This record gives sequence, structure tokens and C-alpha cells, in this order.
Amino acid sequence: MKRTTGISWARKTWNPVHGCTNASEGCKFCYALELTYNKEHGDSGPDGKGTPFKGMNLTYLAGDEKRWTGNIILTDDEELLHRPLHWKTPTLVFVNSMADAFHEKMEPTWIRKILSVCGLADLHHFQILTKRSHIMRKYEMPPNVIAGVSIENDRWVNRADDLRALRGAKKFISLEPLIGPVPSLDLTGIDQVVVGGESGPNFRPMELEWVEEILAKCRQTGTAFYVKQDAGRFPGRPGRFEDERPDLWLHEWPEPGTDEHRFRSLVEAMEEEKASIAAARRHPVASAPAVVEGGL
Ligand code: SF4
Repeated sequence: MKRTTGISWARKTWNPVHGCTNASEGCKFCYALELTYNKEHGDSGPDGKGTPFKGMNLTYLAGDEKRWTGNIILTDDEELLHRPLHWKTPTLVFVNSMADAFHEKMEPTWIRKILSVCGLADLHHFQILTKRSHIMRKYEMPPNVIAGVSIENDRWVNRADDLRALRGAKKFISLEPLIGPVPSLDLTGIDQVVVGGESGPNFRPMELEWVEEILAKCRQTGTAFYVKQDAGRFPGRPGRFEDERPDLWLHEWPEPGTDEHRFRSLVEAMEEEKASIAAARRHPVASAPAVVEGGL
């Protein structure tokens, strides 16, 4: 079965929302909490810079534990909110890597605003990942959005059902950090799964048998299977996949006809279109009919 390989997870991130709260066990060592805390309470330096979230009241310290306050803020910075509209090169964009776009406290008007910007910036593809799939399923996704849910163990496989309920959207599941087996997970209609163990000093273990079971499910449903990392102290490491199970160390993207292929095709089509427009400008008479047929 031919699959495309070796593409990075996302090319750009766009974070118009700040703040979150834990949704489930997978949030225990949330990297966004750590980063947000540092941005809010870090050393501002002699010039006062270095604490971009200062005063937003997003995080606090309880003893030596960092916690979310529960404040959720959609940026009031118009430039940041509309930034993807100004990116000129077709890009795969990861939306809200520091928050959950479908958090319970997100106003519906905020969510529609974010989805609208995604839809209007149709030069790009946007990956939106959530643990609040019951809220995401209430919204219609623009055609250039790739919708995803995070699932960390069998308790949360119902998030895949919410994802499946989205009409038309391309779909992926992030099984990271995988902290338990997912025997009940149904991958029907899912384009890609991304599997990863937890990283950090207190990482929770991941059994390779769980990963093997997920691969078997992928083979049944034709879902692309992408492994990001083993569980371990440091992120991004193949760990036991290198020594014990290289057969599981796979980096697949959906087959032609689905997400990544469409994205690549779009990139190529845009480049061709740009070349054709440039040619039409250089030689207006000879090239004009081709451009008109293209609907410009
Ligand atoms: S939902 Fe995501 S961003 Fe929010 S606390 Fe959980 S891991 Fe962190």
C-alpha cells in the first residue's frame, strides 16, 4: 500500500486563544500550561519584555504546582486574529497549540470567528485538535479544516464518535500521550492517527502492545498510522521503537485522495496557478484564454 511519508506534523502554529483547563487524564502534564505560566510570570528582563501574557490571569502557582485559573481569552489583537489571511505561501497550520478552541467557556461567536478566518484563508489547511469533541461536533467545519480529537485511553474513545459525526471534515486522532490501551477505539472514517508516549521527568509508561493493537486497527480501516515518539524523559525520541519494534516506527500520511495528498495537490495547484498568472501578465494576448477558462 503506497503512502506518503516524512512530512512534519504542522508547518505553522496560530494561537488566537489563551488559557485552558484540564479536560481529562491526558492533561496532567500539559505543556501549554507550563509555557503559558512562563509567558505570564517569567522574568520580564530590564526592558520589561518577555512576559507577553502578563496580567491576563491565566495561571497561578499552588504550592509548587502550576495551575490554570480558568480564564479563557480570545485575543483582541486584530493582527493576530487575522494573521493567516496575510500568509502568502500555502501552509499547514496548527490552530491553538496552547489552548482548546472548543473549551466550554469559548463563546460561540468566538468559535465562529476562528472558523471563519480558517475558511477565508483558504490558501491554507488548518488542523484543529480538541478534547471537547462534544462541543466541536456542533459546528460546521470549513472545507480546509482538518478536525482532530485527542484520546489518551479507552475511557475517552467516544471522542472519536463525535469526530465521525462531523460532516465532510477531514479527520485525525491524536493518541498522545497514550497512557492506556484503546481496545474500544473505532477508526472507521478516520483518515490518520498520530500515536505518542508521554514525555517529561514524570512520564507515564506506554506499552508497545497498545501501539501494535492500534496499528492492526489502522490496517483494517485504511487509516494512516504515524508514530511521533516513545514514552520517555525527552520528547521526540524513538526509544524502544528503535531497538525492539522498528516495524512500528511508521510515519504515514493518508493515501492519495485524502488530507495530506489534497494538501500537497493544493500546494502544487497554487504554484501552477501562480505561474500561469505570471505568464499571462508577461504575455497577455497569448495566455489570456487559459486564465479566463480557469475562472479568474
Ligand atoms: S485540553 Fe490541551 S491545552 Fe487544555 S489543559 Fe488539556 S492538554 Fe492542556
